[in-house]
Amino acid sequence: MQFADRIANLKAEGAYQVLARAQALQASGRDIIHLELGEPDFRAAPHIGLAGVRALVEERTRYNPPRGVTALREAIAEDAGRQRGMTFTPEQVAISPGAKPNLFLPTLALVNPGDEVIYPDPGFPTYEAMVEVAGGVAVPVPLLEETGFSFDLDAFDRLVSERTKLIVLNSPGNPTGGVMPREALQHIAQAAQRYDCWVLSDEIYARLAYDGRAVPSIAALDGMAGRTVIIDGFSKTFAMTGWRLGYGIMPEALSRKIDLLLTHSVGCTAEFTQYAGLAALLGSQDWVDDMIAQYQRRRDALVAGLNAIPGVRCQAPQGAFYAFPNVKAFGKPSAEIANFLLDEANVALLPGTAFGQNGEGYLRLAYANSLENIERALERIGAALGKLEHSAAPVG
Ligand code: PMP
Repeated sequence: MQFADRIANLKAEGAYQVLARAQALQASGRDIIHLELGEPDFRAAPHIGLAGVRALVEERTRYNPPRGVTALREAIAEDAGRQRGMTFTPEQVAISPGAKPNLFLPTLALVNPGDEVIYPDPGFPTYEAMVEVAGGVAVPVPLLEETGFSFDLDAFDRLVSERTKLIVLNSPGNPTGGVMPREALQHIAQAAQRYDCWVLSDEIYARLAYDGRAVPSIAALDGMAGRTVIIDGFSKTFAMTGWRLGYGIMPEALSRKIDLLLTHSVGCTAEFTQYAGLAALLGSQDWVDDMIAQYQRRRDALVAGLNAIPGVRCQAPQGAFYAFPNVKAFGKPSAEIANFLLDEANVALLPGTAFGQNGEGYLRLAYANSLENIERALERIGAALGKLEHSAAPVG
């Protein structure tokens, strides 16, 4: 069978592959602790579901504008602007079924075949996929553990050029939980202006930040609003993954092109879903604040527990719900260690290499699981890794 070149290198998301293997083991009677999927374990706030049901009963189940219903676009413009200290118009907002179409469609709208796209490695696998489908050249930039998994700016300076069309950022980041400091964003913003490129800033974890920190957005820096696409959504912040609701905020001229791409690809986002999202934005935020507080307690327990295991070194992630420990001291490929932990410890987690080659030497553990399960997983991981040899100090 002959397929188009643009899909020749597409890979599955590692999380789903490990999930399938973990579920098969579970079906054979094993007690697996799941730390592999980036999906909140919390329920969404009840008022969100009720708003969705009300909208269904009221038959808000028809075609609606490709970029979404006006009430939700207005609420998103207001909410996203307030959080970033910016002003957005509803015309800048394009709603989509999940954030993912809003990663793909702006890339299709901006990247010509042969254009280079810079993106984080380790990073969310969809970035590489969308660049390939657009016919662009994927240019991974390493993240540095020493800087809390921000961009390696020396490598970035070597890689950014007139050929760069788009720079993809993700802060707080999947899989590391790293937050890019303002100075790093400033450095990247200057390069974006020097080489006249766009920035796609995936801020889907922006609300899930710890220690009371606000996450800076590159869009808010001088000269950047006109060349930045902000991506955000409801999946993580409001635990609404299956509702499929996300959005992009971008200059109006680009938003009108995304309108056309939405028209011809997904048509529109389900209307009742959007009313559930509206309730999420306009209703009480106590539920979100409580989830964030619980994630922070889990993060603290997980990071302390990992650092107590000889051979493991783990930075405290500043956002999202992932820990990304360094396991280089064991001198084995991450995939081998991840497999070993599934087989030996019944803990499902991901090798860092599921997120690019610079993820080698790391594991990703999603702490979207109860404190109790995290404690049990830590005991099991500690016991299993205790059977492996490791060098005295974690390797750089
Ligand atoms: N960006 C990142 C960094 C993510 O981790 C995810 C979800 N795993 C998404 C985007 C996609 O989210 P959605 O469910 O809204 O499509």
